[in-house]
Amino acid sequence: MKKVDWKKFKENILDIIYPRHIKCIFCSEELNELAHNDTCVECLNKLPFIIHGCPKCGGLIEDNNTGVCLTCKRNMNSYYFDEAKSVFIYMDDVVNLVHNYKLENRKFLSEPMAKYLTERFITWGINVDYITAVPLHENREKVRRFNQSKEIALKVSEAVEIPYIDCIKKIKDNARQALLDIKDRKENVTNAYQFIKPFKNTIKDKSILLIDDVFTTGATTNEISKILKNAGAKCIYILTFAHSVLGDFEEVRKKIIQLPNS
Ligand SMILES: [Zn+2]
Ligand SMILES: [Zn+2]
Repeated sequence: MKKVDWKKFKENILDIIYPRHIKCIFCSEELNELAHNDTCVECLNKLPFIIHGCPKCGGLIEDNNTGVCLTCKRNMNSYYFDEAKSVFIYMDDVVNLVHNYKLENRKFLSEPMAKYLTERFITWGINVDYITAVPLHENREKVRRFNQSKEIALKVSEAVEIPYIDCIKKIKDNARQALLDIKDRKENVTNAYQFIKPFKNTIKDKSILLIDDVFTTGATTNEISKILKNAGAKCIYILTFAHSVLGDFEEVRKKIIQLPNS
């Protein structure tokens, strides 16, 4: 008797509830054969992709003369990670998509989001030994029912055939970063995460790709990078779906048009 593939069965049921590959994940317009990653051509043409971005944090370069973003110009040496990249600027329809995914529980969006991250990882051209994700505290994961970053990271790991490891645990059930001021975010994540000791030999001298949904101030990913480096990892790379920008979206929009390298 043929074995029932429950994963496939569940996906088929979900397809009936939330039809995938039919509507654009950003604007809900119907897709045609020119669509890519469940995104319509109109959206592909206007989405705020970050093509190069800041060589350190991956954010938008607002002044071409400096070569780095304004935040990194101020504190270039304070990151523990080696490099970070993001697919999009966190604005407009990208904000809505991330909101739908995380807060409206639309788990199926992890698939096209992971495809965008996989493509960015491949064009980045770095070599990593392991992939991991920013963990949630178990209380938060119970409420949200899934870890949004891990869900994406697992799909990226499968696509690029690099093993996924859960080597970091969140031990402090602290306030959501999104609810805090920039200056309070660093303090909020201090001592919030812990390295899982049995992974010490696994990660020693290895390069790790840490995946998260949004890079805001970098406080969370930087804290985890610090822990991983202290535990013996050689290089830490950060890959996020979107990167926040400081200031007004209208101003940012003008800069995107003016700057060919962002
Ligand atoms: Zn669209
Ligand atoms: Zn930067």
